[in-house]
Amino acid sequence: MKSNELIKKGSDFLKKNKIKSHVIDSELLLSSVTGKSRESFLLNSSLKISPNQIKSFNNLIARRALKKEPVAYLLNEKEFWSIKFDVNKDVLIPRPETEILVESLVRYYKDCNPFILDIGTGSGCIIISLLQELKKSKGVAIDISNKALKIANKNSKTLKTQNRIKFVKASISNFKSLKFDLIVSNPPYIARHQLKNLDVGIKKFEPKIALDGGNDGLDVMRKVIYNSRKILKINGMLALEIGNGQYKKVSQILKLNKFNEKFLINDYKNNIRCILSSLNHY
Ligand code: GLN
Repeated sequence: MKSNELIKKGSDFLKKNKIKSHVIDSELLLSSVTGKSRESFLLNSSLKISPNQIKSFNNLIARRALKKEPVAYLLNEKEFWSIKFDVNKDVLIPRPETEILVESLVRYYKDCNPFILDIGTGSGCIIISLLQELKKSKGVAIDISNKALKIANKNSKTLKTQNRIKFVKASISNFKSLKFDLIVSNPPYIARHQLKNLDVGIKKFEPKIALDGGNDGLDVMRKVIYNSRKILKINGMLALEIGNGQYKKVSQILKLNKFNEKFLINDYKNNIRCILSSLNHY
């Protein structure tokens, strides 16, 4: 069977099973089993695919369509900030929304070398992407999950930032440290009662610990804000990713903790997604 026929067949099956991203998913899965890029299928629509490759492809399509397993976990990788990150079920799949946070910080700190703390690093996507851009920066990344730290460490080695990032198993509540210029976090921020409304693929496969933000979704956010105060340098910045509709509440928490909002960044759907704030010292 030829590549274009196979992509169409896979995509049709995914569509029938209500997978919205059916075309790109089918292309990505075929690309992974053949080791050829998606572009090569577009340039030559009749590439020959071996029977073994067809079998592996069909197997992945079935897992995606029937079990709703996310493509990133099927392939064990996800592109973020144009970088390939290793992922598995121990870490949240890096999201395009989080790239907005990285983008704004890269722009703000261009030609500077902030000392950075990443709270709840997961795959390490935020701090590794930042350090790939800010070549002289260094940082620390913490997470309470050993399994996540293993993946983050692996990514840091592959992407050659291992000499500039120290990974530490810690919760922000008991993390004692030097002071930072920039603290960044995409904490779990889904309200517990809303977890059941998430897409099946997220609900079934992504780590709950990376999603569950407690009763109102802001339990971890509060801890991050409160504890950041003590470990930020004067004029240091706290950069947070927040959930839909959380701006007002998070803004209040920031104010209570003497933070001064400097920039708000909207996502592709025009929700306020990131807040950059600095600390007021009186
Ligand atoms: N920092 C990681 C990310 O942004 C993990 C975030 C999390 O687990 N909540 O993808």
